[in-house]
Amino acid sequence: MNISENSVVTLHFTVCSADGTQIDSSREGEPMVILQGSHYLIQGLEDHLDGKQAGDKFVIDVEPDLAYGERHEELVQVVPKSMFEGIEVEPGATFRATIDEGEQSVMVVDVTDEEVVVDGNHPLSGLTLNFDVEVLEVRDGTEDEIAHGHPHVENGYGHVH
Ligand SMILES: [Zn+2]
Repeated sequence: MNISENSVVTLHFTVCSADGTQIDSSREGEPMVILQGSHYLIQGLEDHLDGKQAGDKFVIDVEPDLAYGERHEELVQVVPKSMFEGIEVEPGATFRATIDEGEQSVMVVDVTDEEVVVDGNHPLSGLTLNFDVEVLEVRDGTEDEIAHGHPHVENGYGHVH
């Protein structure tokens, strides 16, 4: 069967940045299981899965606007270190921060004696991502899976009730 809205898809993927650096891969472990149309995957990857079937392999480049978005420099902010009183801050640490648009994850990119530079951009924003994908299995989602918006599986990215 071909992948369409509400198909449950088992796949292996490897994702690299444009310079060939591997960012993530399912191939050293369990394949990923997703519900097509649930937007668990980035838009560019969901778009390319439509109509594919078990056994299909493809390699695609996904531009930032169909991946994790463009970088917004205004999301890089310098805040006084006193805001982090009692918390160990070092580059690479992530925090939940409350901003105008709600809760957001920010990453510490630099720390000086007085100030901390935080970046609210997704770490993969602004990157064109190269995906190498193999579709292993396709089935219809169950009523429960479609209602919950995720696959019900023992492993992968769904869960069992
Ligand atoms: Zn569920």
